[in-house]
Amino acid sequence: MSTTPRIAITGAGPGGLVCARVLQQHGLPVTVFEREAGPNSRAQGGSLDIHEDTGQVALRAAGLFDRFLALSRPEGQQWRMYDRHATLVRHDRADEGDMSRPEIDRGRLRTLLLDSLAPGTVRWGHPVEAVTPLPGGGVRLHHRDHADEDFDLVVGADGAWSRVRPALSDAQPHYTGITMVEVHFDDVDRRHPGIAELVGAGTMSAKAGGRSLVLQRNSNGHVRGYIMFRGPEDWHAGLDLADTASVRARLLDRYRGWDESLLDILRENEGEFLNRPMFVLPVPHSWQRVPGITLLGDAAHLMPPAGVGANLALLDGAELAQAVSSHSTLDEALDAYESVMLPRAHDNAKATQQMLATLMPDTDSDDARFPDSLWPDHTRPDSDPASGN
Ligand SMILES: Cc1cc2nc3c(=O)[nH]c(=O)nc-3n(C[C@H](O)[C@H](O)[C@H](O)COP(=O)(O)OP(=O)(O)OC[C@H]3O[C@@H](n4cnc5c(N)ncnc54)[C@H](O)[C@@H]3O)c2cc1C
Repeated sequence: MSTTPRIAITGAGPGGLVCARVLQQHGLPVTVFEREAGPNSRAQGGSLDIHEDTGQVALRAAGLFDRFLALSRPEGQQWRMYDRHATLVRHDRADEGDMSRPEIDRGRLRTLLLDSLAPGTVRWGHPVEAVTPLPGGGVRLHHRDHADEDFDLVVGADGAWSRVRPALSDAQPHYTGITMVEVHFDDVDRRHPGIAELVGAGTMSAKAGGRSLVLQRNSNGHVRGYIMFRGPEDWHAGLDLADTASVRARLLDRYRGWDESLLDILRENEGEFLNRPMFVLPVPHSWQRVPGITLLGDAAHLMPPAGVGANLALLDGAELAQAVSSHSTLDEALDAYESVMLPRAHDNAKATQQMLATLMPDTDSDDARFPDSLWPDHTRPDSDPASGN
């Protein structure tokens, strides 16, 4: 490009941060605007499996792959599936040396990415309100609490409820009919041995009809779980969500008839039950080009949490940065990026929708089948349907 473009990224999630990192590696200055007050103002959530063909490609492009490997948990690739009687139906083990999708704590991944950026790249405490294209070219970024600023390229990496997306499309996330309620266990091997036994070193899920229970081991003996069921968004109507005893009783009622060891996930939860209704963007989601504005990650293609969202966000971020650095105009760069990103997002969104329908069928019968794999493209390394843990 004849002049260095002024580039802003909204959102310091995995997609925005890897995009900033790869831009800086190519000598392009960039500012990331993040609404959170600082890097430690919020716990960053659970465990992410980073896939060989997407997230790992992005981390290699960012020159961070070896550091990622050192922080990752390959043993976390194990996955146990139970029925509602707590019978182990399948046990996928990772082969020795299998690095196809090692797990990493989301907080560790974020710190890795943040530490790789030039000092001052992220402006914390900067919620973005909206963006508007300027008639003579360029884009105006409207901050909620600061003066407007103009850029040549604004990348919306601000997640599900993106403030950049309305400049490109009218699409809004809609409720899937499935809610996840998050639960937590600390020091699990000592304080919750039954939960530790269920989850093993990786992930476990138990399901029957439109209900499931999922646990994922994080580092430092922490386990995070999701109580997932089909139901109205206001399933908790009449309850105060901070009243854990009442929420627990209502949830136990939903899982009546399940094995006691599985019900312990509801009984032993430490602290509040965090309500997370599942929203998605329409499929397909695309837009007409608006010069100087694009989206990546959940802002572009919010889909069910089936293990691909963060991976696609990382790949989008790396590829967008590479496109900007290797084309002579921003328009050409966005053409190159979106012509690959949008069809990929469409394919993945369809696959995750199908997987969700299999995992969470719209029926209460127990005999709904288990998917061949939790992940659309996963070849399971080993299957041991009967032999306990
Ligand atoms: C329960 C659960 C489990 C999941 N598990 C997995 C998994 O195992 N593997 C996987 O690949 N994916 C998983 N996902 C999906 C994954 O979390 C997302 O797809 C991924 O985080 C998207 O990354 P992103 O960078 O696009 O957006 P986000 O991670 O959502 O980051 C957006 C950033 O933008 C900031 N922001 C938001 N609004 C504004 C604003 N107005 N102004 C400034 N900043 C703003 C936010 O604070 C945030 O820092 C899971 C999702 C859920 C809900």
